[in-house]
Amino acid sequence: MKCSGKVEFVSVVVPVFNEEGCLQELIDRTLKVLDSTGRKFEFILIDDGSRDGSAEIMKNASRKRLDEVISCILNRNYGQHSAIMAGFSLVRGDLVITLDADLQNPPEEIPNLIAAAERGNDVVGTVRQNRQDSLFRRTASKIVNMVAQKATGVKMNDYGCMLRAYRRHVVDAMLQCNERSTFIPVLGNSFARNTCEIPVAHNERAVGESKYSLWKLINLQFNLLTCMTTMPLRILTYFGLLSGFAGFLLSLYIIIRRFVDENGNAWSAFGVFTLFAVLFMFTGIQMIGIGMIGEYIGRIYTDVRARPRYFIEEVVGRPDDGK
Ligand code: UDP
Ligand code: MG
Repeated sequence: MKCSGKVEFVSVVVPVFNEEGCLQELIDRTLKVLDSTGRKFEFILIDDGSRDGSAEIMKNASRKRLDEVISCILNRNYGQHSAIMAGFSLVRGDLVITLDADLQNPPEEIPNLIAAAERGNDVVGTVRQNRQDSLFRRTASKIVNMVAQKATGVKMNDYGCMLRAYRRHVVDAMLQCNERSTFIPVLGNSFARNTCEIPVAHNERAVGESKYSLWKLINLQFNLLTCMTTMPLRILTYFGLLSGFAGFLLSLYIIIRRFVDENGNAWSAFGVFTLFAVLFMFTGIQMIGIGMIGEYIGRIYTDVRARPRYFIEEVVGRPDDGK
């Protein structure tokens, strides 16, 4: 498998959910771009349980170019990221490019992604220039990016943009992660050695509406958070420590005032402050307890996911023994 150098075989993966309005244009434009790259390619469309004519349009395109256009129909709606994973399981190319079906990411950017990958990057991200989404979506994205940067340690400015390129070995690594909820750009970055970001154009949605309701978006954020880190569990322990410590300091202070101050009793509101101090300490202990249980659950979670510990990219120096 090739990990760097010239890209010979490009796979483009597109999840499709009720996109009949723009699907034909997407197919035409993408095929035109791919034809012009002069490389071997495959164009994989995954129908994520659409209820409109999307699947038919895809299948027709496949019938016309059986070698290059592959339609994969899922039996129901599993969500964008699961659909892309299904597409990943079919790829044969050495560079895999993901793209949205709604033409918000122009397929004309594909050659730029290929060029960036050939410069030695395993993952090529993109930054949407003058993004055409609502303020709410943009703010949500900012939060996602912040969390993702913390979780992966890879600084990227636009995790939400799905127009991305992954070297095949990164895709193979992702396929070995069996957890149900994934956020592909973050997962991909966690297996990359070199990453880069290039600016790309961003258009308004060609037809129809975003498939993400507020609820689905919130769900996605949680997937993102839990797919990479068990940090939220640890936060509880920290809060517990803080509260317990605050309680302890307060009780110390109260005791000292009681002995030093002749009006100490009145000052501490006849025991009300003491109650607070005790309460703080006990809440602290409880939170630490929950946090501790969380630590174990976090460990169980990581083990249950059973991600491979490492991926070998290349072995030099042991001749193939014919196995
Ligand atoms: N999509 C999908 N399954 C879903 C929701 C979305 O395959 O359950 C696809 C959709 O067809 C599109 C891409 O994922 O190709 C991004 O969806 P959308 O444009 O609605 O998201 P937004 O651009 O608003 O983030
Ligand atoms: Mg979109």
